[in-house]
Amino acid sequence: MITLTVDGRTVEAKNGEMILSVLRREGIHVPTLCHMDGLPPSGACRMCVVEVEGSPTLTPSCSFPVSEGMKIKTATPRVLEARRTIVKLLLANHPDDCLYCNSNGHCDLQKLAQDLGIRERVYRGPRRVQEMDMSSPAIVRDPGKCILCGRCVRMCEEIQSVAAIDFIGRGSRAKIGTAFDGGLNVSSCVNCGQCINVCPTGALSERCYIDEVIQALNDPEKMVVVQHAPSVSVSLAEEFGLPAGKDVDGQMVAALRRLGFDRVFDTSFSADLTIMEEGSELVHRVKTGGTLPMMTSCSPGWIKFIETFYPQLLPNVSTCKSPQQMLGALIKSFFAEREGVDPANIVSVSIMPCTAKKFECARPEMARNHVPDVDYVLTTRELGRLLHQFGVDVNALEPSPADTPFGERSSAGKIFGATGGVMEAAIRSAHYLITGKELDDLKIQPLRGLKGCKELHIEIDGLKLGAAVVSGLGNARKLLDEVVAGRNDLQFIEIMTCPGGCINGGGQPKNVDPEAVQARLKALYKIDRDAPLRTSHSNPWIQRLYKEYLGEPLGEKSHHLLHTHYTMRNIPMAQG
Ligand code: SF4
Ligand code: SF4
Ligand code: SF4
Repeated sequence: MITLTVDGRTVEAKNGEMILSVLRREGIHVPTLCHMDGLPPSGACRMCVVEVEGSPTLTPSCSFPVSEGMKIKTATPRVLEARRTIVKLLLANHPDDCLYCNSNGHCDLQKLAQDLGIRERVYRGPRRVQEMDMSSPAIVRDPGKCILCGRCVRMCEEIQSVAAIDFIGRGSRAKIGTAFDGGLNVSSCVNCGQCINVCPTGALSERCYIDEVIQALNDPEKMVVVQHAPSVSVSLAEEFGLPAGKDVDGQMVAALRRLGFDRVFDTSFSADLTIMEEGSELVHRVKTGGTLPMMTSCSPGWIKFIETFYPQLLPNVSTCKSPQQMLGALIKSFFAEREGVDPANIVSVSIMPCTAKKFECARPEMARNHVPDVDYVLTTRELGRLLHQFGVDVNALEPSPADTPFGERSSAGKIFGATGGVMEAAIRSAHYLITGKELDDLKIQPLRGLKGCKELHIEIDGLKLGAAVVSGLGNARKLLDEVVAGRNDLQFIEIMTCPGGCINGGGQPKNVDPEAVQARLKALYKIDRDAPLRTSHSNPWIQRLYKEYLGEPLGEKSHHLLHTHYTMRNIPMAQG
């Protein structure tokens, strides 16, 4: 440890630590537009400059290490003027449409301008007319609002290892774009939305379907049905200024009814169903010498990733549809038959933490007779906006239960929202299916937590099972390379596109609290700990669904409704 002085106070730091990290620990807020925790500093935006005694120039705190006896000043007139100048220059050619921007109220640039007291456009730079990229069903790019901070590029390349976007051009012509500067829809983008989460402005956002959903809610001819994903109930509250991790499950159901949805279903129910189908598929593959390791299929960003980058491993992917699509298929088959409604008159909406689900529901194989199983996907953020539009305050409502027949879930289905949750739920049920007994302790600690790679090697009744859990596609790529190279001690791999899983999905609230994802994770585990029903196979509504409609896991009806196939995709040449 070394000692240094910050704004006249003596503080301790680790030798070699970056100044910014010390300042944050000391509770000093230094703004930055380009820095990303966990990645090496890029030093691109220079917003984080401070004065270091003895240095003639201002020092970028993100990329300069501390040293013994260093004297740092964080808010001198020179520092503040430098930060103001940077923001004024960024605003010189920035659009003036804050009022109409998706990020109004959540924009780092807007907040900095406000914090630094910038009230007018001081410099005027020539505006380049840049077309919005509306080609993707999931992500919208508005290059006019881009400040070239590079966060999206780093997220896409260094964390997700997709590299769908990069800097193009030089000097005043520099911009962010795809290979050949085409639309995102023809790039290798997997629609994960992680770039949206790190973008400090409104240059990136999800494709919004709020108007279409409102139109459906106002159509008397339509029955409008909604499902909500496991992680949404522990993050939606943040859109109402409440702390991360507050579970508003029952209030959210009540709020969805207030909006006018005819039925409210819980996607955790079909997560339980996924465990029944996927668990049976795993046991079948193990017993019959099928392709192993089997890989989960519930995360649509991951599916497009493997279709694009590792098509030779597609036989390893479970044929199960994602929980969203399983429930979508049941809504337009079993539920439609039960209610006597033509599936074409049902509008099926899902509330997801996810932008990639917007792409998934539009895949041609997710429609039967040209009727999509899920019509519209709204992210958690969009649901927040929709509720604000309708003046519904989630926090003010009395909790209400979801509707039958897809409303009751086990907590095994609920923990699907976090990395490791699918595997934990699967092992709980696999143990029961193989031994006829429940696990002594349903909590499987090695699979928990936000680590990007976790492994577990166990034996169930003589059956050896090697399991791996990865989240974030960069971590997935490392494990897939090992499998391609011949690693053969794994039978089952869970892969989630987003680092940490859906609790950190690309459609979740943009929360500045660095502990928000951890808080959402804890909330899911608390729900599990306190739940009366903790295994998918013991969900009575799942048992009933098999008895009355589906028959058995992997049976003919299940195969038709709940399973799918995948498509090899080309990598755009420049990224090849
Ligand atoms: S959505 Fe994901 S894959 Fe697509 S550009 Fe953004 S970070 Fe990259
Ligand atoms: S799109 Fe957003 S994250 Fe990407 S460089 Fe521009 S401002 Fe930064
Ligand atoms: S991890 Fe969850 S939020 Fe992220 S792409 Fe997969 S399903 Fe969507």
